[in-house]
Amino acid sequence: MPTAAGIAKGTLYVVGTPIGNLRDISLRALEILSAVDCIAAEHVQHAQKLLAGHMLSASHTRILPLHQHNEGSAAYKIIEWLEQGKAIALISDAGTPGVSDPGALLVQQVRARNLPVVPVPGANAALCALSASGLIAPHFFFYGFLPTKSGERQRKLAGLKTLYACILIFYEAPHRILECVTDMLAVFGTGREITFARELTKLFETIHTCPLGEALDWLQADENRQRGEFVLLLAPLEAPQQEEISPQAMQTLATLQRELPLKQAVQLAAEITGESRKKLYARALLEQKTKKLI
Ligand code: SAM
Repeated sequence: MPTAAGIAKGTLYVVGTPIGNLRDISLRALEILSAVDCIAAEHVQHAQKLLAGHMLSASHTRILPLHQHNEGSAAYKIIEWLEQGKAIALISDAGTPGVSDPGALLVQQVRARNLPVVPVPGANAALCALSASGLIAPHFFFYGFLPTKSGERQRKLAGLKTLYACILIFYEAPHRILECVTDMLAVFGTGREITFARELTKLFETIHTCPLGEALDWLQADENRQRGEFVLLLAPLEAPQQEEISPQAMQTLATLQRELPLKQAVQLAAEITGESRKKLYARALLEQKTKKLI
């Protein structure tokens, strides 16, 4: 049952907060943060700063730290409080909790107990970058942070090569920006366009698009360009023209693939349907790769 401030008892509110500019927070988020019994926050000091920045007193609100190292035990406590009828807000240091940030585990456990979870939308760096990138595609794929080691990073990037017609979105730390872009260049080549969305909503906000082949020069032309927080977006690639294959041949291949190894399934499907073995094999490999990714 909602209280006067619109807060329901025993409810977890997942609240989006700013990614830089303190004013990028909704009226509803402020109302909820000021009315809940407890705020679960990645860092207590950060939460206090956010509240103080909006003239909300933190004195009557308990702030409970919830970060990647204590999420399990904090979730246990929060569930106990929710079951006692307390209203709790979850925030992270920036943007939307659970998106490359702690919070997803808590939400999963609260929902598993059939306790109410209410999203209160706010900023998100990936969507903020996408909205101002000027990139057009039917789909986008949000990857988040790539692995920190180059070999592993290149393998993950190579796995995204066949994600056609899709904008790829990554988060990256400033001290890895040069090596990350070097790996993107090695995997995708010089022609694919990259957009750097740096320090979004802050004083030195920069949004720059160039071919990957020019990206390292751009970053190195001014050391400031390597500082701050980054979202990287790779422009979509056009899918290579697929050779026509009859629906009957594809259906036969799919049925055989459920029972046989790929090579045998292709061989048999080609014999049954008269379709080219080479075409069937190429299509099956492409579909296998795409399935692994999605
Ligand atoms: N939960 C956040 C969200 O909803 O976007 C993301 C948190 S993640 C730990 C932090 C990463 O998000 C940074 O390393 C950076 O890649 C990206 N990021 C956050 N704020 C940003 C900003 N103002 N400008 C550009 N990227 C930002």
